Amino acid sequence: MGVNDRDLSPATYAVVAGRPERTEGAPVNPPVVLSSTYVGRGAAAAGVPVYTRLGTETWEPLEEALAGLERAAEPGLVFASGMAAVSAALDLTRPGTRLVVPRHAYHASLVAARHLVERTGVDLVEVDIADTEAVVAAIEGGTTSLVWVETPTNPMLEIADIAAISTAAHAAGAVVVVDNTFATPLAQRPLELGADVVVHSVSKYLAGHSDLILGAVLTSSRELYDAVRLRRDIGGGIAGPWETWLALRGLRTLALRVERSQANAAELARRLEGHEHVVAVSHPSLPSHPQHERATAQMDGYGSIITLRPVGGQAGADALASAVRLWVPATSLGGVESSLERRRRFASEAPTVPDDLLRMSVGVEDVEDLWADLQDGLAAAAAV
Ligand SMILES: *Cc1c(COP(=O)(O)O)cnc(C)c1O
Repeated sequence: MGVNDRDLSPATYAVVAGRPERTEGAPVNPPVVLSSTYVGRGAAAAGVPVYTRLGTETWEPLEEALAGLERAAEPGLVFASGMAAVSAALDLTRPGTRLVVPRHAYHASLVAARHLVERTGVDLVEVDIADTEAVVAAIEGGTTSLVWVETPTNPMLEIADIAAISTAAHAAGAVVVVDNTFATPLAQRPLELGADVVVHSVSKYLAGHSDLILGAVLTSSRELYDAVRLRRDIGGGIAGPWETWLALRGLRTLALRVERSQANAAELARRLEGHEHVVAVSHPSLPSHPQHERATAQMDGYGSIITLRPVGGQAGADALASAVRLWVPATSLGGVESSLERRRRFASEAPTVPDDLLRMSVGVEDVEDLWADLQDGLAAAAAV
């Protein structure tokens, strides 16, 4: 590969990482190799591709780029989806031991954690991940082997203290996994803060265009790399070649997209906070956010997700989602287009999430257009 100096700024690194070597006539972008198997005779040598489920050169540029962005010492591991990555990392929990998870987190991750209870007798403890004392008490209250952290959390935007939780977990001999999907490695690098493993839904900001599903795991520990890699090899949840290539193409503009969407989100949150048709708004950039100071200290940005509770309760939130014309009413997040949804439209969403809460994924459009459309939505909420 070409220039890959990790001392470059992350914005530059996302552009240069994973390029072919600059030999005369070389392509600027890595090729997509469509082959399930590789020529081999005699004893298989380490590092030589054998069979695509076990590794292919098409994954390597993206794996290198993601590992560099997250400051991981080991290569990245791409997976078929964020959930394939989450499941592989959750499987690091030892049977019969304690698994500590946030009470608010990506829904399918919580379902996967609860499923471990049934399958392997894991002692699952769900905590308010922003309450460090409660997290430490949960870690110390049993034989904890894994602590799952999401920060900011979905959809409540709670901020966990990654360094403090990692210190307590390591003292107890537990592994710390951070789902860094909401923050992106531009805004937060958990491995530098002491976490052992980072997981991503690459489907969101990293790929950035709502056009593919992909996941990744990053770590600096050879032992954990081997354990997660084995789960990919035998679990078989492997990334497709086209998705991998498209994700790397999307990653090239990560800094531009994240800078713009974070700025848009902070500006919209600021304006919403004073709006007459708003009951509550949350974004870590707001001084009113309960962990605003922690976010400022831990992150290099506040992310691009806002939550909004308009007037009119659930009906008001539904009216807003129906009235907006620019914001896309849809689940998921992290695309260039702004989208929103009332989370409790899913019966499975945590009952502690307010009925009228809209999760808003702010995109890269002109902030004035987004604001004008939102004002129409708020007027519709006020009219119910
Ligand atoms: C979307 C998401 C996932 C799951 O990723 P998929 O790519 O949809 O499988 C996990 N964690 C978070 C925080 C997410 O937003």
